[in-house]
Amino acid sequence: MVITMFDNLSDRLQKIFKNLRGQGKLTEENIQSALREVRMALLEADVHYKVAKDFVASIAERAIGQEVMQSLTPGQQVIKIVNEALTELMGGRAEPLRLIGKPPVCLMMVGLQGSGKTTTTAKLARKLVQEKRRPCLVPADVYRPAAIDQLVTLAGQLKLPVYASSVQQRPEEIAREALAYAKQQNCDTLLVDTAGRLHVDTELMAELGRLKEILEPNEILLVADAMTGQDAVQVAGKFHDMLGVTGVILTKLDGDARGGAALSIRSVTNCPIKFIGTGEKLDALEVFHPDRMSSRILG
Ligand code: GDP
Repeated sequence: MVITMFDNLSDRLQKIFKNLRGQGKLTEENIQSALREVRMALLEADVHYKVAKDFVASIAERAIGQEVMQSLTPGQQVIKIVNEALTELMGGRAEPLRLIGKPPVCLMMVGLQGSGKTTTTAKLARKLVQEKRRPCLVPADVYRPAAIDQLVTLAGQLKLPVYASSVQQRPEEIAREALAYAKQQNCDTLLVDTAGRLHVDTELMAELGRLKEILEPNEILLVADAMTGQDAVQVAGKFHDMLGVTGVILTKLDGDARGGAALSIRSVTNCPIKFIGTGEKLDALEVFHPDRMSSRILG
């Protein structure tokens, strides 16, 4: 997996902890000064300021006054605490898709234009095939014919059934017909690629709300571009408030943006990150494991 966005943060944290390790005995002062540096490093990685502040406060609370474990040096103990706190910050554990229900269960993909929604819809379908499911795809972005063509092409590459909608249809009609089509094709999962816009607007939200009523989706998955940093966090918050997002798929973690979105989205919006996109190819989608990501960051 190629994830470069935490490289800087990783370097910074490793340096801070190396300094701590050099100290035989940790004083409250040592720890406080290391935590100030951790907070700076998080802010520089574009972590939401409140998230960084609360994070450091929670570590201070756990680290100071804790009995030193015999098996660990004080420096190692702080690293262990930071590791646990980072894991919690990102949601604690992997959150699987909720796929139980009367087939076809529906996964509604939402997000802004350019976030990687269409590509991610195909990536997710590919993953479901690997898990022995039989997905069906439907493009519902009637405002951009290119988006429809793109998903139809990707479905062709994956040899998966696709309900070929047209720009003359209303999205609600597409949703109803796609459900019937998926049933008729014996598919157990329907992935709906909804329309994106450049910004969150009320018209888009109203349309997505109507689609939600018709599709009764098991999951509403927000695809968000990690390269946009705190904007991605704000977008996730808005979609969640208006629509009730059940999971986030964070794309472009292979890019050179800083890791702030990945570290902030969960605690700001309370939506779990379920998958991460790590490249343009269809196999570049991974289940998000907060513990592994945390260990990776701490090196
Ligand atoms: P949509 O407008 O949200 O449907 O976005 P697209 O699926 O068309 O993706 C926009 C661009 O982002 C395309 O060039 C994709 O190849 C690219 N993209 C999507 N996901 C990833 C990812 O995880 N990593 C990288 N590097 N590029 C991605």
